[in-house]
Amino acid sequence: MENKVLISGGGIAGLTMALFLNKAGYESKVFEQHTFFEEAGGNFFLNKSGVRVLKNLGLADAIKENSHSAKQTKVYDVHDRLMSIQRSN
Ligand SMILES: Cc1cc2nc3c(=O)[nH]c(=O)nc-3n(C[C@H](O)[C@H](O)[C@H](O)COP(=O)(O)OP(=O)(O)OC[C@H]3O[C@@H](n4cnc5c(N)ncnc54)[C@H](O)[C@@H]3O)c2cc1C
Repeated sequence: MENKVLISGGGIAGLTMALFLNKAGYESKVFEQHTFFEEAGGNFFLNKSGVRVLKNLGLADAIKENSHSAKQTKVYDVHDRLMSIQRSN
């Protein structure tokens, strides 16, 4: 079984791993325990490292076409107290 990798879990980590392995010339197979794959959720926040990973996968144009950038992100706790502010460069 040369150059073949089995990946357990089809979340973002498993799928990203499969794409990077593919770029490196490895064949991979992703095993996901859930049997449904319909779309779920609405949006998600991509931090700098997430954007860098997607750019390394050659997805920079797809990100630009399908996203909006935020000038700043504020994080509040359950009591509505401001915990942090992240500003984009
Ligand atoms: C409500 C909510 C909102 C979020 N919003 C954001 C956001 O905006 N931005 C952001 O960056 N992050 C966000 N996160 C965090 C983000 O979802 C996680 O960091 C990310 O999903 C982790 O990815 P993962 O692939 O490591 O794990 P998971 O997404 O948990 O994927 C693991 C997968 O492995 C499968 N699995 C587990 N065990 C097995 C097995 N034995 N065999 C086969 N399959 C298996 C599971 O079914 C699952 O599909 C959010 C999380 C939550 C809960």
